[in-house]
Amino acid sequence: MKISVIGTGYVGLVTGTCLAESGNDVICMDIDQKKIDLLNAGNVPIYEPGLEELITRNVDHGRLSFTSDMSLAVKSSDIIFIAVGTPPGEDGSADLKYVLAVAGEIGRNMNGYKVVIDKSTVPVGTADKVKVAIAAKTKLSFDVVSNPEFLKEGSAVDDFMKPDRVVIGTESAKARNLMQDLYSPFVRKGDRILDMDIRSAEMTKYAANAMLATKISFINEMANICAGLGADIDSVRRGMGYDKRIGFEFLFPGVGYGGSCFPKDVQALIRTAKDLGLEANILKAVEAVNKRQKTILFEMILQHFAQASKQGRKNSAPLEGRTIAVWGLSFKPRTDDMREAPSVVVINNLLRAGATVKAHDPVATHEARKIFKSRVTLMDNNYETLKGADALAVVTEWNEFRAPDFKRIKKLMKKPVIFDGRNIFHQEELKKMGFTYYGIGRR
Ligand code: NAD
Repeated sequence: MKISVIGTGYVGLVTGTCLAESGNDVICMDIDQKKIDLLNAGNVPIYEPGLEELITRNVDHGRLSFTSDMSLAVKSSDIIFIAVGTPPGEDGSADLKYVLAVAGEIGRNMNGYKVVIDKSTVPVGTADKVKVAIAAKTKLSFDVVSNPEFLKEGSAVDDFMKPDRVVIGTESAKARNLMQDLYSPFVRKGDRILDMDIRSAEMTKYAANAMLATKISFINEMANICAGLGADIDSVRRGMGYDKRIGFEFLFPGVGYGGSCFPKDVQALIRTAKDLGLEANILKAVEAVNKRQKTILFEMILQHFAQASKQGRKNSAPLEGRTIAVWGLSFKPRTDDMREAPSVVVINNLLRAGATVKAHDPVATHEARKIFKSRVTLMDNNYETLKGADALAVVTEWNEFRAPDFKRIKKLMKKPVIFDGRNIFHQEELKKMGFTYYGIGRR
């Protein structure tokens, strides 16, 4: 099949590459000329495990190409994915200006029947708007499909290649058949391709993300209650998870959710509910708990040093002159994405309180430099952050941080104090080694 993907970001690039891998001819289009130049020069603008190899192979086989020419992309394909960003507007609703601009451009450049697919996460009713925007520019026939994407950054290629389910919302039998053919190589069990009406397909994505965000805020709230009660969230989590109705998945306490999806999608759904005259009380609480959770690690650090100040130094600003090492900057492991990352809240609070911050992330350094400029010292190696540090704060649970050389850590640090924002270390072992250890909701 001849396919174009408009918007070559995390979703568009993975979608286009994986569809090329299954034998289709794919053009990835983006208005960002720098991104297209990078891709045409053989570089990959984002970090996503396994993606670079797939891109290289499919470009070499002539199935995958990159362009900033919208006309070329539209005219050369029968199937067009819209995968541009849908950032939050000022009132929290999803801003559709990029999606609708692309729809208009598709209409303007059409040269025959096309299936236009909303891959971006868009509010219920957007397919109708896309239809109107295209129809305003062409008399040719087309169908619009809602096909929300469920991939996770960090395992996006795997998720696309082996999806839990594929949601297809359309009113057209022709478009539905085409979509089923397109996805059949990825879904061995046909029952995982879920046909539904367009509005339900659009809503499914928001409902799924809202549920996942709810699980995170729920377990974070339980962790905070555990901390106050002297109970241990790890034991509680295990005790809950063996109940099959609850399960273990996605119930890990931490420093809050970030990324380009959960925060904006929860906000957008709250806004959608408000427009209907409904109060999304659960979602409002999910958001409020998350906002608070992003500050928790900083508060623990502040409290620890305020205590230390009382015992020795006379200082009303307990973090003034302290150096804090931060491990992990991306909003989660295996990605360089720092949109809404908890690390930004933690670090900005530390800097505001007068601390010096030395940080390391395996792949997000270039993104972090754009955010922090020279305010944070970014190190190539996690151990380098520790030289002379008063404390270590673990913010993102990269695998390479899970079993470090604690003897070396202790030697490098001024004081052996660890704030484990993801509960990745064994607190008892660390205590035996002479560390002062703080986790989230641990005894
Ligand atoms: P992104 O910001 O990484 O990429 C969007 C791309 O669209 C950018 O490269 C931008 O230059 C391009 N673009 C903007 N306007 C354009 C135009 N008029 N023509 C061509 N290109 C244009 O965004 P993303 O993370 O890939 O997300 C895209 C959509 O997918 C969003 O709606 C998001 O909610 C949804 N989504 C994201 C994820 C994720 O994990 N990132 C997962 C599922 C769904």
